[in-house]
Amino acid sequence: MKEIILVKYGEIILKGLNRSKFEDMLVRNIKKVVGRENIASIRKAQAVIYIEPAQNTDADSLIEKMRKVFGIIFIAKAGVFQKDMDVIMSEGADYVIDALYGAQTFKVEAKRSDKKFPLKSPEISREMGGAILSRLHKLKVDVQNPEVTVRVEIRENEAYVYTTGARCEGPGGMPTGSSGKATILLSGGIDSPVAAWMIAKRGVELDAVHFFSPPYTSERAKEKVIELARIVAGYTGRFNLYIVPFTEQQLAIRDNCPEDHLTLIMRRMMMMTAERIALKNNSLALITGESLGQVASQTIHALGVTNEVMTTIPVFRPLIGMDKDEIVTIARKIGTFETSILPYEDCCTVFTPKHPTTKPTLPKIMESQSKIDMEYWVNKAVEETDWVLIEPQN
Ligand code: ATP
Ligand code: MG
Repeated sequence: MKEIILVKYGEIILKGLNRSKFEDMLVRNIKKVVGRENIASIRKAQAVIYIEPAQNTDADSLIEKMRKVFGIIFIAKAGVFQKDMDVIMSEGADYVIDALYGAQTFKVEAKRSDKKFPLKSPEISREMGGAILSRLHKLKVDVQNPEVTVRVEIRENEAYVYTTGARCEGPGGMPTGSSGKATILLSGGIDSPVAAWMIAKRGVELDAVHFFSPPYTSERAKEKVIELARIVAGYTGRFNLYIVPFTEQQLAIRDNCPEDHLTLIMRRMMMMTAERIALKNNSLALITGESLGQVASQTIHALGVTNEVMTTIPVFRPLIGMDKDEIVTIARKIGTFETSILPYEDCCTVFTPKHPTTKPTLPKIMESQSKIDMEYWVNKAVEETDWVLIEPQN
């Protein structure tokens, strides 16, 4: 029996005249993720993309890969049947019966785009419901809140029968590549991978920057960041990770600036460096995992002082209003949490002052910062930056 994958998308539908451009982008991204050789045909019609898997390709494995493609809100595997109510009620009902075992309640939703089909949608639902009940006597119909929904779609040339459930959800958002490029400041923590995912979900292509300070941070800490980047790349496709050696810079700050301002001066230097790297690589914004009030360097005063170094591009902080447990929920959902909590040091925390200031003012920070040559150290960091190509983790 033939099976087909139905893909439905969300916000793209609102795009008016640009809609087909976004749809084409989504189709391209799907092909890239699942591999062209695994697709026999792919076409779109009426806000649905239909994918016929290649012979010997398992539809479920394609669906598993597509569950990470931004833009998709719904994916399901459907059986393809002859447009004949008797066939649908026999072969179609057999096709979905496994998904109904163990359920208490169900409903059938029917839709026909072929208005010449002899039965109207409510009649199709009723007949198919009867066919299913005659197979599973204990099952009950619940139109309000069914455990399983069976869908029957009568299209131009064929009929599709499938069931829906939690496994059908896609990540939503906009297709990657539809909103320009931004650079995420990626640490090994919980927050920044989530921030990367949230911005990427809006269609933004990513680059990443990571600062490390050997020997104060270990090789293993760097590998952890690469691993996190690979998990994020599972959603976005491959991207560049710029790795910035930051030991000398941190030592210069530690040895010359007042202790309670160390973190903020370092964060200002990180932002300046990241901005230069972003500009060199055509990124249009920086992204951080900062959340208001989470730590001393993320008070409203501290963020203002840090942000002041930015000269040309905006900084997006998608987690700014989120609580830690909300961030953790997303980290678990996207699969970064377990890696993020591995206990390796971050350069941000190796030289933390005992009493960091929480209400800094710009003049005081500028005075402390004047003890070092910011420009020299930022240039040096940019010059010594190395990069790795991050391939998606499968
Ligand atoms: P995270 O969980 O993302 O590490 P955090 O709550 O620990 O964040 P900070 O260490 O103050 O907060 O860092 C704030 C933000 O600065 C991070 O979310 C990240 O965007 C960026 N950042 C911190 N350390 C690094 C680093 N070593 N390399 C690149 N960016 C970093
Ligand atoms: Mg951190």
